[in-house]
Amino acid sequence: MPQQIHLTTRFEPHEERTFRHVPFEVPEGIDQIHISIAYNNRIGSSPMVTGGNTLDIGLFDEEGIESGGPGLRGWSGSERTEITIDSAWATPPYRSGSIGSGTWNLLFGAYKVDQHGLDISVTVSFDTGIKPPTVPPWPDLGVLRRVSLPPAEPGWYRGDLHMHTVYSDGDSYPHEVAAIAYAIGLDFYGITDHNRARSPIDLVPQGDGWPVLGPGVEVTTYAGHFNVWGTDGWYDFRTPTAAGIQAAVDAARAEGGLVSLNHPKPYGPPWEFPEVSGFDTIEPWNGWWGRLNNLSTAFWADALHQSTPDSWPVGIGGSDTHKNQQRGEAANPLSQATMGFPTLWIQTDETLSPQSIIKAIRGGRCFISESPAGPQLYARREGDEMVVRIVGGEGDALLEIGPHGCLGAGAIQGPDVTRRWSIQHVLDDDVPFLRFELHTPTGGIRALSNPVWLR
Ligand SMILES: [Zn+2]
Repeated sequence: MPQQIHLTTRFEPHEERTFRHVPFEVPEGIDQIHISIAYNNRIGSSPMVTGGNTLDIGLFDEEGIESGGPGLRGWSGSERTEITIDSAWATPPYRSGSIGSGTWNLLFGAYKVDQHGLDISVTVSFDTGIKPPTVPPWPDLGVLRRVSLPPAEPGWYRGDLHMHTVYSDGDSYPHEVAAIAYAIGLDFYGITDHNRARSPIDLVPQGDGWPVLGPGVEVTTYAGHFNVWGTDGWYDFRTPTAAGIQAAVDAARAEGGLVSLNHPKPYGPPWEFPEVSGFDTIEPWNGWWGRLNNLSTAFWADALHQSTPDSWPVGIGGSDTHKNQQRGEAANPLSQATMGFPTLWIQTDETLSPQSIIKAIRGGRCFISESPAGPQLYARREGDEMVVRIVGGEGDALLEIGPHGCLGAGAIQGPDVTRRWSIQHVLDDDVPFLRFELHTPTGGIRALSNPVWLR
């Protein structure tokens, strides 16, 4: 029986952003596989870093490489080059479990290839007796402290649905993310690891006052990213063409997922296929406001302009936090994203659950605020009047925005201000919706509402 297999493969510069499956045979009676991968001129995955090679890595077991099938054992992007799969444990994000004999496939994605090409060498070893990593202790509600931030209006909850863990390229385990979400006062949080092969639902504490987990996946392709919440599946990221991505969006929708176009802005990375349709939501606000979110908000505003009251992309915000151990700050938008910046607020009369959160978002009953303690921006129509309540926005300016731009602006002079005005002229002009932005005196945005449709 062979104890080691050596493999090599090479991507040429013109093969950047393509995938390749590299098969290898697993003999019978194996309890552990260790895969060690090396390649030349390795650089980081940030879209701002260029001039070297970045290799994305995934693994399919003997169940095969079929789209959405049971064979995906994990996808670690460019984070790891040493992977162990044991019947009892696995290097995150890979799935542990029985090691079936037959043909397995490494999946290589050449994210960046420099002018010398990308040369990869792989060693696969069997039953080498590697021990599992130490996992941080499970959090204890008895010793955790939670910030108390009651909402100004009943039925509203705050959360952050876009975050990463060690199950892709984050630095924290899901249960550590849960503890931080609890401590900063979030009522719900999402885990959206890149192309994850297992739901995080069993990896976090639940009930007993813990925030509610909205399990998701960030479908991470070379033409842009989208999140799916509310399903357990994975969606094929290996065909970064308009048709390939449309098929993945359609598959997620067919399973009932809430599908969200992520960070459509430079360095997001951006979204390259405007012709792909079917998004329930768009993320106009991802991470620190100063990180080009004015452009993703413009992308969303443009999509709204082309929408109808029956079918429009709800605007949501998410921090996209990866590194909880490196806290960033708004004054430096290139610093690490931080949980709750921004915060997504949702309204539901039901018990808070993954399903009621998704329902609220689908209904557009949500707004975005700069942080868990940031301004609250409630907007609704009452007959021929618009009613907007702003809590925590003193000294800021409220902008009233229609499909063609700003229709009015005014200063907020007080900590809890309710504005009420006639919109008869707007109705007469057949303006389809109004939405609201709360701006600081120097132009940044502190809160963003969804449209209030008028027809
Ligand atoms: Zn992303």
